Amino acid sequence: MSDIYKIFLMGPQGSGKGTQSEKLSEYLGIPAFGMGQLLRDEVVTGSEFGNKLKNIMKLGDLVSDEDAAHVLKLRLERSDTKKGYILDGYPRNLAQYQAFNFDNPTHVFVIDISREESLKRLGGRLTCDHCGKVGSINDGLKSGDTDSCGGNWYQREDDTPEAISRRLDIYEHDTAPVIQKYAGYVTRIQGVGSIDTVFQRIIEALK
Ligand SMILES: [Zn+2]
Repeated sequence: MSDIYKIFLMGPQGSGKGTQSEKLSEYLGIPAFGMGQLLRDEVVTGSEFGNKLKNIMKLGDLVSDEDAAHVLKLRLERSDTKKGYILDGYPRNLAQYQAFNFDNPTHVFVIDISREESLKRLGGRLTCDHCGKVGSINDGLKSGDTDSCGGNWYQREDDTPEAISRRLDIYEHDTAPVIQKYAGYVTRIQGVGSIDTVFQRIIEALK
């Protein structure tokens, strides 16, 4: 494909945007990345800047919006983004939007799912208290069951309906103004349906 695609994918937790980013990356032959990955990759390079980030993250502190934007800038200077790229879940608030002042999208896809659907998809997650493996009550597991490693399955505090609801509130509150800023590029994608169904909706919206 000769066109350049700079696609920003947004959506609440459980919307499947990570999966859709990967599929789109394969389909268009352009890289996909999220900020968490970019920060980890920069640390691995062992650069001076990477070491600075490593120390910030080691202390459990948040990387500043300026540093995060700089990591993204470095990534976009690499030659594999010449035909475009897919940005997964960034910028997700107004401060990040303002720091990200060196490029514009060609498309912004916002994957919409209802709060009920988010809760259904995320609410069943259980974690093993010994090996850290993640499972789901949708696979027949119950809290308190024993894992093959000998540990017990439990629901992390992050995965309770209350915690999920709080994260969804934050998502809606923080991303709404970003979506507004990108209004001219935004297509809302109905996120309910199979992975392939949702992917087809995205492909349609690209045309
Ligand atoms: Zn286990």
